[in-house]
Amino acid sequence: MSLNSTPSADRVHIGIFGRRNAGKSSIINAITGQNLAIVSDTKGTTTDPVLKAMELLPLGPVVLIDTPGLDDEGALGKLRIEKAYQVLNKTDIALLVVDSSVGMTKEDEKILAKIRDKNIPYLVVYNKCDILPKMNSTTDYAISVSASAGTHIHELKERIAALAPQSTDSPPIVRDLLKPNDFVILVVPIDASAPKGRLILPQQQTIRDILEAGAISIVVKDSELKETLTTLGKNPALVITDSQAFKEVSKVVPESIPLTSFSILFARHKGDLGTVANGAHAIEKLKDGDMILISEGCTHHRQCEDIGTVKIPRLLTKYTGKDLHFSFTSGVEFPSDLSKYQLIIHCGGCTLNEREMKYRLRCAKDQEVPITNYGTAIAHMNGILKRSLKPFNEFESSNFQ
Ligand code: SF4
Repeated sequence: MSLNSTPSADRVHIGIFGRRNAGKSSIINAITGQNLAIVSDTKGTTTDPVLKAMELLPLGPVVLIDTPGLDDEGALGKLRIEKAYQVLNKTDIALLVVDSSVGMTKEDEKILAKIRDKNIPYLVVYNKCDILPKMNSTTDYAISVSASAGTHIHELKERIAALAPQSTDSPPIVRDLLKPNDFVILVVPIDASAPKGRLILPQQQTIRDILEAGAISIVVKDSELKETLTTLGKNPALVITDSQAFKEVSKVVPESIPLTSFSILFARHKGDLGTVANGAHAIEKLKDGDMILISEGCTHHRQCEDIGTVKIPRLLTKYTGKDLHFSFTSGVEFPSDLSKYQLIIHCGGCTLNEREMKYRLRCAKDQEVPITNYGTAIAHMNGILKRSLKPFNEFESSNFQ
């Protein structure tokens, strides 16, 4: 994806489900007008979910997710089916592709029940309708098309657009806290773990949101922060720091200036800041032998380097003085059974869409496992969680430490 395109997490995620040979890939090619998916007569060409970011008119920026066949066989096939079901957690619109000549099967019925269960807007797409010209299954929840003949593809795109989720009531990243011409200082340490030659996605998105507010962003390294505060001429409305530099930054920034972190801003924007802030207190209750799950939203660790796998475990072990055991997951993987964990620490989730982040928070809540994130956990261990939550009105009178 180019640097100028809509971040993946802000795109409508369209999951395409169905049995092998129902024509999922052909449907993707027909609605995009491009030869994107691998179409083959061999059953089961799609083995892992394949994500493609693109513009889909009349809807706009979307991510299409091509999933493995629901009737896959063998031990590997079972794993692939599990992956297809996991995709439901990030799906904003589901398309269930059914071969008209075969009709609805038990595999289709099973996933349809799950889609309905999760309240995901959906359409059953009866493909290959040209083989059975008299058949017309078009209803409120279904449409008959032929990907190969191009029949009703235009209507299908219109119906998909009509299912698009309305904008949510989640707060923006930061612009609601700012007035035009406010100064905001962003502290971005450039150490060995920072990616070469660029800012990471949460930093880019925050700068963009500050521009939306008509405010002014000043991006500095932690080593230049003190000098910047002295020479600025007026106090910034807010200082936003990378979580890793929290401790040092909080010493430099006077108490009178609001201070928070990128991951705290994203927890508020994505899901439930209250839950992850409360979850940080579970750190105090950890005992020898406890299991901690550290979960990252993307598989390319380059963006967050070794914060999750090295720095957080080290900090947590040192802070608690306990013998803790860590498990790690990344990307779409998120265990459905969380019962063996005493705490979950999640990354900022900048590449996860709101549906998936909320799903993970709900899983933890339902199984009564405390969940926190990198920023809130680090702020808690540095004794400045209360201060970093102060910029948000909803926490003003709360008891966060
Ligand atoms: S690990 Fe998490 S916060 Fe870091 S880039 Fe990936 S999704 Fe974003």
